[in-house]
Amino acid sequence: MTFHINKQNIIESSATVAINSLAQKKISSGIKIFNLSVGEPKLPMHELLLEAAVEAMRKGKTLYPPVSGISELKRSASEWMKNSYDCSYKPENCLVVNGGKFGIYLLLQLALTKGNEVIIVSPYWVSYPAITRLFGGTPIIVETNEIENWKLTPDKLKKVCSSNSKVLILNNGSNPTGILYTKQELKEILDVAREYNLLVISDEVYSGLAYDNHPYISCGSFPEHQDNVIVIQSCSKNFAMTGWRVGFVFGNENIIKQLTSLVGQSTSGVTTISQWVAVAAIENEKIINPWVKQEMQKRRDLMASLLNNQFSVTVNPPPSSLYFFISLVKLGVKNMTSAEFCTRVLEKENTALVPGLAFGKEGYIRLSFGTDEDDLIQGIKNLARSIHP
Ligand code: PLP
Repeated sequence: MTFHINKQNIIESSATVAINSLAQKKISSGIKIFNLSVGEPKLPMHELLLEAAVEAMRKGKTLYPPVSGISELKRSASEWMKNSYDCSYKPENCLVVNGGKFGIYLLLQLALTKGNEVIIVSPYWVSYPAITRLFGGTPIIVETNEIENWKLTPDKLKKVCSSNSKVLILNNGSNPTGILYTKQELKEILDVAREYNLLVISDEVYSGLAYDNHPYISCGSFPEHQDNVIVIQSCSKNFAMTGWRVGFVFGNENIIKQLTSLVGQSTSGVTTISQWVAVAAIENEKIINPWVKQEMQKRRDLMASLLNNQFSVTVNPPPSSLYFFISLVKLGVKNMTSAEFCTRVLEKENTALVPGLAFGKEGYIRLSFGTDEDDLIQGIKNLARSIHP
């Protein structure tokens, strides 16, 4: 019998696949890779979280969870959104999901039918267009540029809106650019989104990694936009908990109920132990998040000074997230695509970077400072040597 695959479900291979498989090949043959491509704050598990995990297991909190999440977590997550980001969510407005990514997946699964357009700001996180296509949607890419600080403006948004537009995905605290929007900028974007009846998915997973005392403004803090704004949150980056797979969807009760039905027929909810660890993370937010943030800010500043020394350029440290998004021309690289350059650095210097093409922007590379200091220092040295041997 031949198994017929639904072609719509095949996601095209990304620009990073070839590079990742080369890195894997090198690692399995025992070669050390200096990894500047990680998408996570590489830190040991915080002691308070370790205790919470052990306690949850000892107390037998290992059975099926409620599909939408344990009530203790939905309550503390809603309070966290109030106290840290001025959002008025009740536990009924919160769904616990297996990481922020799965929240976005579920929302697009629920929202899209064939031909619906999803407006995505470039440079974008790689998964937005891929998940959109998975559910029959058409990604509509809005280009931004470095001179304009990589920001979506109300005018740019208006230009791409049509009667087919259904969803806007906004990534405040951006991967890969690290930009942060002000309250006024968000208000103007949300006003346009409402005018065109768009569902706004506000991806806020880096909210706790806003550096230099930059304020973080959540799209959930605008009471007049409660109905068409959904906030995606996560423990991954904010509490260095990537492997525990705990994220949240916050939004109106009706959407949360429908998403809960999808969870009920897919994962059946998030691992019970992980949820108790997340409760401990949020209850100790004032200890754990500053620890992650300070460590990441230190690594960011180290990477900035290494780049400035090695390349004699001025690289501005990003105000948030975990990445430098740098133009190849600025680094002195000419006549090479971002994928060719990243392949060369990996082949010659065993250093992993991500090509800008993966984020929809040719001519750039993304460097992560989430990695540990040793990899970071040697990785930048290797990068410099690959350009000026
Ligand atoms: N959104 C952005 C912009 C990200 O960079 C990531 C992870 O890299 C996610 C969402 C998903 O994070 P998680 O599923 O670990 O919560």
